[in-house]
Amino acid sequence: MERYSVEKDISIVKSVKGGEMLSLNGYLYHLNRKQELTFYWECNKRRHVAGRAGCTARATTVFSDGAHKLLLSSEHTHAPDPVERETKIFRDNLKRKSEESSGSVAKIIQVTLNSHSSEIQSRMTEGARRKTVERIRSKAVSIVEPQTLEGFSITDTYKILEDGEKFLIGDVEDDGQRALIFGTRESVLRLSQAKYWIIDGTFSTVPGLFRQLLSIHASIGPSHERSFPVIFALLTSKHELLYKKVFFRNTRIQRRKECEA
Ligand SMILES: [Zn+2]
Repeated sequence: MERYSVEKDISIVKSVKGGEMLSLNGYLYHLNRKQELTFYWECNKRRHVAGRAGCTARATTVFSDGAHKLLLSSEHTHAPDPVERETKIFRDNLKRKSEESSGSVAKIIQVTLNSHSSEIQSRMTEGARRKTVERIRSKAVSIVEPQTLEGFSITDTYKILEDGEKFLIGDVEDDGQRALIFGTRESVLRLSQAKYWIIDGTFSTVPGLFRQLLSIHASIGPSHERSFPVIFALLTSKHELLYKKVFFRNTRIQRRKECEA
């Protein structure tokens, strides 16, 4: 039995402060609370405004398969406000374009404006549009590439996968050189089951401090006729000793996994 109905007009938009809002059939909701994958929303016209009583409408959604599905919703005391909703979407689009595009501020604003009605355009002043784009831009600039190895530490975003599994599985240092080894439990398992490994090095696409991206491919399939990249290592030098350490580390990780299995 299907527990929830699939609504056509249901989406998540960002509030001015960056929080999530539910957009449902022309109405907007603030998040009241969430419990695991169940989200409880309240109409954004909940507060009393001069001449209008607050609306008590609520909605409950369940987040599954990457989307919110409506579980429950109640009646509103007012008509939907599609203009307000589209203004939110406009602001969202402006932010997304600022993150994705490297074009000029004016260009980003123009491209975003083109896909919205003039009524929506007039809801946000030129100054406010410019500020929105510039704020996103300054955040992007503040992520700078490290210039030296000293004090270089890799943040959790790149160390740990979304499900909590470790992705940085080795951090090797040798005579001022460094190698970061990335892989998953499954990739280490694949290495241990492979008949052969293939090592491949790339030099052109690596970030600043590092000289080489090494990928280790494991043979797969019933007859091991194909190979698949399973481990990645960023190396600061092409020094033989560093290579050896990376391999030594990998065989050790692999043996440890075999013992655990
Ligand atoms: Zn309402």
